[in-house]
Amino acid sequence: MIDRACLSVNNQCNLNCCYCYFRQRNLINSDEMLSEDDISIILHNILGYSRQNGLSMFKMGIVGAGEPLLNFEKIKHIIEYTKREDADNILAFYTVTNGTLVNEEMLLFFHKYKQLIKLNFSLDGHKELHNYGKEKYDKTLNGIKLYESIFHERPVLNCTVSRKTINNKETVARYYIKHNFRNINFSQLIDAEDKDLMINHREYQDFLQYVCDTKAIVFRQGRPKKSYDCLTYGQLCGVGRTNIFITRQGIYPCSRFYKNDAYKIADFNTSFFKIANVLKKFSPVKDGECYYNKHILNRNDL
Ligand code: SF4
Repeated sequence: MIDRACLSVNNQCNLNCCYCYFRQRNLINSDEMLSEDDISIILHNILGYSRQNGLSMFKMGIVGAGEPLLNFEKIKHIIEYTKREDADNILAFYTVTNGTLVNEEMLLFFHKYKQLIKLNFSLDGHKELHNYGKEKYDKTLNGIKLYESIFHERPVLNCTVSRKTINNKETVARYYIKHNFRNINFSQLIDAEDKDLMINHREYQDFLQYVCDTKAIVFRQGRPKKSYDCLTYGQLCGVGRTNIFITRQGIYPCSRFYKNDAYKIADFNTSFFKIANVLKKFSPVKDGECYYNKHILNRNDL
């Protein structure tokens, strides 16, 4: 049963981070963007599918091949549509920003709808580390400060774990604890151009254990029961089971298959009942395996 999706509202970014999966593969193209009408069709399809299958929650990440806040109007449209059409409160959203574009108007909006959409910030640790793989640490931190002035709490962070993170794990943990960042989603860096930065899944899990042992940082991956989502977030692979990646170019099993025509599931406006049928041709991998690694890279590790 599909019960989660990533929705890539745009395909453009204001930064040029060296880690970026989409930039490295020249997949960024600002013309490829979902219109508000496209988004309404997608949400309509998801709600119809969820109701008919008795789902109490359908989780949507407004994340993908770009910085979502470059198209803040699209996010507003999503929330306005949901307020109007989702009387049963089925849809639950989160989005992740690089933090450099947030302003008071945006944050007041996110605060007003905080029960419906969570706003997370990407921050990979202290300045030198963050600016190595990403960009504009100071601007990101300013965005976080503005968030705090309105929410009166630290935001949830997303941190990409690379070889550099692991080599500096004491500094990274100290940084987060000292600055009182206690809720962090750690994701494993994969498919980077710089092979020296990549880590395997065992190293990623060892890092999570190290963070866990600090007893000061809460992270989603620390929960004992793992859900079908993605191995790189410390969960289990959801391909062929629970999740899909929705873009203007079509629907794919996950973001790593973006623009791979052999793995395109359907056009973005296809009914979810049809999508669920097509998804059946993907035999889910065993717990602990990654579908992409197994079938595209012919490897069983990450
Ligand atoms: S195929 Fe790999 S990268 Fe994609 S959702 Fe599954 S575990 Fe994650």
